[in-house]
Amino acid sequence: MATRVLYMEERRGQDPDPNYAREFDARIVERGPDFVVLDQTLFYAEGGGQPDDTGSLRWTDGEARVLRVTKEKGFVKHHVDRMPNADSVHGVIDWNRRYKHMRMHTSQHLMSGLVFRKYAARTVGNQIHMDYSRVDFQPANFTTDDLKRIEDECNGVVASAQDVRIFEEDRVVVQNKIEDRALLDLIPQSVRRLRIIQIGTADYCPCGGTHLKNISEIGRVRILEKRSKGKETDRVVYELLPA
Ligand SMILES: [Zn+2]
Repeated sequence: MATRVLYMEERRGQDPDPNYAREFDARIVERGPDFVVLDQTLFYAEGGGQPDDTGSLRWTDGEARVLRVTKEKGFVKHHVDRMPNADSVHGVIDWNRRYKHMRMHTSQHLMSGLVFRKYAARTVGNQIHMDYSRVDFQPANFTTDDLKRIEDECNGVVASAQDVRIFEEDRVVVQNKIEDRALLDLIPQSVRRLRIIQIGTADYCPCGGTHLKNISEIGRVRILEKRSKGKETDRVVYELLPA
């Protein structure tokens, strides 16, 4: 049976919110040379521009570091520095790293949505890091004034402190609501129920990542630079400052 991914569960006002839970208990269901598969997990597996979580797995008389997390056919592999000597473990994710990724990921949705509406430029690539992120837009050829406007508008929306909803919706419904339909083409046709991240009235986007509950937690968006990547593609690099 595939790994039950706890942060994917619907946000229903529970405490802690699945995207903010940091610890969990699990059973080891498979062991590889340097990894374990658990029956359930909070660890994010690398993908969709968001890096994986790191952290630890603890048992009665030991602890292993989780160095890398990957996903294969629904199974989440926790690559560890030593094999747990137990059937069950207590997992703890590195919250500082994860929370930075959540702030970055939610801000990326905001910026991508805003740029699509203002400039009709689509997001054709993105990579999140702890300290900075990049988003590739196409077609785009932003001037310094454009970048300033994008930054200001992002911060204007952040100041509105809207809640972020996470829920599932049928693909046919999403098709009629989504602004940039090309985003849907990236998701295999076989997926009929989509996980939606909705930022108040500002953005609606299918995504498997981890996200904030309120955009005020983003802080302040500061665009560092843009680089032309050819083919009318501009790469915008930004960081987040404390609110
Ligand atoms: Zn996303």
